[in-house]
Amino acid sequence: MYISIEKAAKILRTGGIVAIPTETVYGLAGNAFDETAVAKIFAVKERPFFDPLIAHIAEIEELENLAAEIPRNAKLLAEKFWPGPLTLVLPKKEKVPDLTTGGLPTVAVRMPQKQIAREIIKLAGFPLAAPSANKFQHLSPTSAEHVLEQLSGKIDGIVNGGVCEVGVESTVVGFENDIPVIYRPGAVTKEMIEEGMGYGVWGMEKNLKVVLSPGMLEKHYSPNTLLSLELPSEVPPNCGLLAFGKLPENTTLFAKTLNLSANENLTEAAANLYGMLHELDSCELNKIYAMLLPPIGLGVAINDRLGKAASVPIV
Ligand code: AMP
Ligand code: MG
Repeated sequence: MYISIEKAAKILRTGGIVAIPTETVYGLAGNAFDETAVAKIFAVKERPFFDPLIAHIAEIEELENLAAEIPRNAKLLAEKFWPGPLTLVLPKKEKVPDLTTGGLPTVAVRMPQKQIAREIIKLAGFPLAAPSANKFQHLSPTSAEHVLEQLSGKIDGIVNGGVCEVGVESTVVGFENDIPVIYRPGAVTKEMIEEGMGYGVWGMEKNLKVVLSPGMLEKHYSPNTLLSLELPSEVPPNCGLLAFGKLPENTTLFAKTLNLSANENLTEAAANLYGMLHELDSCELNKIYAMLLPPIGLGVAINDRLGKAASVPIV
């Protein structure tokens, strides 16, 4: 199942789909311009067609192949944060298939930081649509083993590039009248964007009434085990704890405890998030309890993912 980057590029050029490492999470990649390849990605992920994919590029100049217009502030953010975990949502060029963009008139584009990801894009010769390499609404993979667990036998190969350094999905930014609006928090934080722009921008607190960006869906990024964000006063049997910082006094009553970061390092916590959720999910626990993080910097993105992971599906 594990393949070289040359083999991956060859498969991609013949319309196949492969899992590739990026600094955020592993992506399930296919030619963003090829509707058949993109359809395969949706099918394997069991992802609804309204949820658009992010197109990944290797050079900033390639943005012009996808975006019909590049607002001044988008250019500024790309120059400041690319390569890196920032996705820009821009008006799409006609040649970008509707399937890739979930029928939206806009396209989401990112230039990943991870060298191996950019090498694969370069070798393939086209932008790669690459949503996280997991089943829709489930936990994102931050290692090649996580991909293997969920998608083994369903895709054409996996490039093993070790663990993902950042560990949470990219920050998604759209533009309203040229002003950046954060649709999904990530490792490029609101504070970093504001510093880059020199003025305040809308974050998630804008509380948009419409789902402008399907990553805002309530349930997403979830383990199979029920997850709760309210710590119990009495710990029920066979429960797990995903902690952050100082452990609560009743920690020993949990069947299994993992700490995102004992010394409250947000970067370390983000890198550990999905790996630890995967591990707790494999322990056959009745429930996982997770502690929320301080809502600053990367803590905003981690709390966002924990909130979505804790959401109960509407059936
Ligand atoms: P991922 O599942 O991590 O690949 O991220 C894809 C997410 O990016 C989607 O669920 C959306 O939230 C966001 N996205 C992608 N394309 C668009 C778009 N054209 N407009 C708004 N948000 C988008
Ligand atoms: Mg995903």
